[in-house]
Amino acid sequence: MKLFLDRNRTLLPRIDVIYLLTRVMALSGIVWYTFFGESQSSDLNLFYFIIGTFVVHLAVFYLAVRGKFDIKLAYLSAIVYDLILIPMMIMHTSGINSSFYLMYYLTISVAAYVLTFWFATGFSIIATASYLIAIFADLENVNLFDLTMRFGFIWAYFLAISYASEYLRRSERRLLNLFDTLNLRTSELEKSQAQLEVIYENSRILASILDSESVVREVMKIMGEILGYDSYAIVFRDREGKFYYRARAVDRHISLHPKQCDSEGISLIKKVIEMGEPVSIKNVMTRQDYTVLNERTRSIMLVPLASHGFTMGLLIAESNEANHFHERDQQMLSIVSRSTAMALENAELHRRTEELTINDELTDTYNYRYFVQKLQEEKRRALRYTLPLSLIMVDIDWFKKLNDSYGHQVGNVVLKQLSAIIKRCIRDVDIFCRYGGEEFVVILPQTPQVEASSIAERIRQQVEQAVLLVDNAGRLKITVSIGVTSFPENGKSQEDILAVADQALYRAKGGGRNLVCII
Ligand code: GH3
Ligand code: MG
Ligand code: MG
Repeated sequence: MKLFLDRNRTLLPRIDVIYLLTRVMALSGIVWYTFFGESQSSDLNLFYFIIGTFVVHLAVFYLAVRGKFDIKLAYLSAIVYDLILIPMMIMHTSGINSSFYLMYYLTISVAAYVLTFWFATGFSIIATASYLIAIFADLENVNLFDLTMRFGFIWAYFLAISYASEYLRRSERRLLNLFDTLNLRTSELEKSQAQLEVIYENSRILASILDSESVVREVMKIMGEILGYDSYAIVFRDREGKFYYRARAVDRHISLHPKQCDSEGISLIKKVIEMGEPVSIKNVMTRQDYTVLNERTRSIMLVPLASHGFTMGLLIAESNEANHFHERDQQMLSIVSRSTAMALENAELHRRTEELTINDELTDTYNYRYFVQKLQEEKRRALRYTLPLSLIMVDIDWFKKLNDSYGHQVGNVVLKQLSAIIKRCIRDVDIFCRYGGEEFVVILPQTPQVEASSIAERIRQQVEQAVLLVDNAGRLKITVSIGVTSFPENGKSQEDILAVADQALYRAKGGGRNLVCII
């Protein structure tokens, strides 16, 4: 049952203040009546006893403030104490003529202020009864009007304060609720604004990233660190139209290995991509059309990744709480998805441009520009980590003749087929470039001369054995001469390495062609 009106949070004077105030006021009243009142008491022992009890009250207050005592209990016992003390003092002094009855006003008014209406009424009834008992002996010669006035005032006073207090507290409750809502809204707004600022900042970063791998990394970072999703993913559609997770995070553990989406649970993904609109599902437990990333997931949000009317995939956010995502969350993720789609488009454009500038279209190998750049890089790396590095230079024998006999077009097809043969003979890490005309170079990182020579020999043999089928020319056979050079034994500068390769090649030509030579 609720005894006190007061709640922990209040704008009105709190119980500790009231407690202290009433104790000080009651004590001052007693001191004044004892020494200056019309009926001065001669019993100083009683006075000291009372002072002692008030000291106990103050000690209790001190302990309550230090958190050792519940101030509400202390206050309640103080009211009970007053209700016993006042009639005692009235009886001990001059009964009906004693002014101690005035202390009832203090006790009743404060009870009406801090206690619920029914408890305060109870105390007022006790006060009335105790006063009647205290003055019982004087009841015969009491002025009835005077007595009625005293009770009337006590009750009017009690009712007025009780009503005002209830009213004040009700209003206060409404005000505090309003504050709460306001605080909540403000903090939500502040949070949104902070998030938006970070998202915009990150979108700017996204726009400056030129490779899709880094875009994916950055977007995963935004979804985890800034948007704080429990689990999240980026889904793309591959060339065959199949969906796969490009990156996923389950309980914030990120995996950047692509993984095919579960074919049974992708209807929702397909639908969102077709619609091109964000979707949130309050409770995903009952859905058959979606496979969750994390079995603890309860609600999800899917936002398509679209740019220039083309939807390339979507962003997925999952929460371990049901009904977690609202419109504001969709808006936030949509901002991220727009920047992501744009950044991915940029990266793709950059990749294609890059490819055009570093590729030799005819033979589908890297061009001279790229070769020079890569040789420089690989040479530096070899130097830094003291690793071997080799270079193979390949030149077709009597190519001029072939051109003259069959025409330039046939020569081109031969170049293409030769490039395909060489590609089959080398490793993924090797860098195969067209050096110019019918000359090719292969940079072989971490490869000593012996190994490079055997790779060169393999190329020479494969070309010699190959029969090239060319329209309009039938079956053609060619041979190549190859020069091998290695770093650092054949020179340390780029020029030296190339010059040695050239010399080796020249020797191969001089030695009768269809040969591999090292210096
Ligand atoms: P060698 O055995 O001494 O190398 O004799 P070669 O005839 O191959 O002599 P060289 O290497 O000097 O010949 C280069 C020829 O390659 C000249 C040119 O006709 C031909 N050529 C260069 N670039 C292309 C090209 O892009 N397509 C075609 N079809 N021929 C090219
Ligand atoms: Mg040549
Ligand atoms: Mg040649």
